[in-house]
Amino acid sequence: MAATPRLPAARVRTLRQRLLGWYHRERRDLPWRRTRDPYAIWLSEIMLQQTRVDVVIPYWQRFLTELPTVHALAAAPEDQVLARWAGLGYYSRARSLHRAAREVVTRWGGVFPRTPAELEELPGVGRYTAGAIASIAFGVPAPLLDGNVARVLARLFAVEASVDAPATRAELWALAEALVDPDDPSGWNQGLMELGATVCVPPPGSPRCEVCPLAGQCAARAAGRQHELPVRAPRKAPRALTWVTLAATTRAGALVLARRKPRGLFGGLWELPSAEPAADETPAAAAARVVAALGLPGRPAPRRAVEQEHVLTHRRLRLLAYRVTLPARGTAGVTIPGDAYDRVALVPPAELARHGLSSATSRLLEALSLA
Ligand code: SF4
Repeated sequence: MAATPRLPAARVRTLRQRLLGWYHRERRDLPWRRTRDPYAIWLSEIMLQQTRVDVVIPYWQRFLTELPTVHALAAAPEDQVLARWAGLGYYSRARSLHRAAREVVTRWGGVFPRTPAELEELPGVGRYTAGAIASIAFGVPAPLLDGNVARVLARLFAVEASVDAPATRAELWALAEALVDPDDPSGWNQGLMELGATVCVPPPGSPRCEVCPLAGQCAARAAGRQHELPVRAPRKAPRALTWVTLAATTRAGALVLARRKPRGLFGGLWELPSAEPAADETPAAAAARVVAALGLPGRPAPRRAVEQEHVLTHRRLRLLAYRVTLPARGTAGVTIPGDAYDRVALVPPAELARHGLSSATSRLLEALSLA
């Protein structure tokens, strides 16, 4: 861990006064800011990781309506949790959230631990989330560092090294720790995040230094470098993947769905049974292979229907969808298609919403007029 930096006390005092004054005056009225319930705050923090506030609000509200307490979440089946999460992406987070809720109930008697060290022992709770829950829900003076805070601190202190490098992350954590206000850690941490989200914004936006409460204390602005900082490591190009996917429907509109095994891409989610074509296999042959793996009666010939591209965090996924119509009877005995799945089911349209579907699957079903 980097040594705590020696910051002049007067500078720290001024930064705290200005940021806290601005935050309590200007902050957006977000629903999770109206509660101190650690469960609701934890849920918002996990949902907000890499997802926009306006997208998260309805998900957060629906999730809390259906699963209002950590006890309710712990008792819910995983399919229900994934169905409530469907569309937010990053499904491993939903599964960790579920496991963590069970741990809060079994290990902590349903009462959230309060310290960052204890919180970090929960599945899916890293240093950032532990700092957020401890400071916002419990008023513990714990630091936090997310992308917004890293950018603001890198500009305020003119940090020239890449903010993605481990040594720089350690330096920024040390700065965050030295700056957190002991009397109002919630306001300070949320103020830094709010400033990063609304004023000290990332490219392609421009930092709005003219309305920034910290403009007089900002080293990047003083040097005219606010548009050049922070320095980021170049991103890796996403890996290209192609899957053939099969929409097998009965004449009544019921759909064959398969559930992915818990680990890996789309783990635990339901989707149209899919396969990656082998190097020497045509998409049509791969679709016929899925038909055979499902054991569909009469081995119907798949017809090419729709092609879609989905950009995920580290992958560019091309889905080639094929269709088959099943005979009215004889869908019993459909088998699990290959190693990637652990269940298969014939799902009537009215029951689709109860299955956790990835947004890629939802978009594909819409394009196939099946949702
Ligand atoms: S003065 Fe500009 S660069 Fe500095 S913290 Fe404020 S918005 Fe960011």
